[in-house]
Amino acid sequence: MAHPRCMGKMLRYFESHRLFEKNLRLSPNINYGQPYRKNEKDIPRICVLYYRRGANELYYEIEVFVDILLAEYCLREIVQREKLLKSKILLAERNGYKEAGCHEELIQLLRQYSKAEYDLYVAESRLPIGPVHKSYHTLRQNPVRFLRPELVEDCKARGGCCGRTCGCCRTRHEQSTRPKGLGHCTPSCECCINERGFEYSPEEITSFAEDFKNQLQDDNPAYIVQMADISFLLPLATKGDKSSRQNQQQGGNFNRRKGIFRKR
Ligand SMILES: [Zn+2]
Ligand SMILES: [Zn+2]
Ligand SMILES: [Zn+2]
Repeated sequence: MAHPRCMGKMLRYFESHRLFEKNLRLSPNINYGQPYRKNEKDIPRICVLYYRRGANELYYEIEVFVDILLAEYCLREIVQREKLLKSKILLAERNGYKEAGCHEELIQLLRQYSKAEYDLYVAESRLPIGPVHKSYHTLRQNPVRFLRPELVEDCKARGGCCGRTCGCCRTRHEQSTRPKGLGHCTPSCECCINERGFEYSPEEITSFAEDFKNQLQDDNPAYIVQMADISFLLPLATKGDKSSRQNQQQGGNFNRRKGIFRKR
């Protein structure tokens, strides 16, 4: 559960912007990820998410979402690794010796950060203009967007700081000097490493990123649909919501997306 102070911030932000997205919900295509036969023709594996707007359906190749999610993951990993290395250097200095290896890795990380930032820029530029583009960029203007309950639960389930009382995730945006790479714990989170009692090897860290990519590209669309929903779309308004009721009086739809996070 997000910290009340952060939830308040999120609500105020979206209330002040009054941003609405009507019925925005992404669904996988029929026979997602499976080759099949239609009218005696072989149809190859197709992986797209779509939403319906009136008579129109808008389709997105999943790579559009996968590339952005991976670039963001990569930035998070780098930013958390940077914090870890800086702590190690500080500790070494206090104890009167030099962590030469950490200094070298820090220089490498700066290069990786620039590269990942550029990768994210390129991936974002491929997101087609439309409601998903709009809601994605609206979310990104909110520094505590990643404290929505679904992502907090995901962090908990992965054994991250949201499952403990340390509060690392909910204060990360206040402590980071980086404009990008905010979010929940990765294998390089310093606090998680202290809790676990060991650091993952570079190979293990790479394999975590690979696993994330494989999950997103799986033939079963459950994970990509969930991640696209919580990372690209504003939360759905709930039935009891005041603005939703006003909308109903105006002949609107209950399930439209509203620009605030749902209270729990
Ligand atoms: Zn922590
Ligand atoms: Zn952590
Ligand atoms: Zn977390």
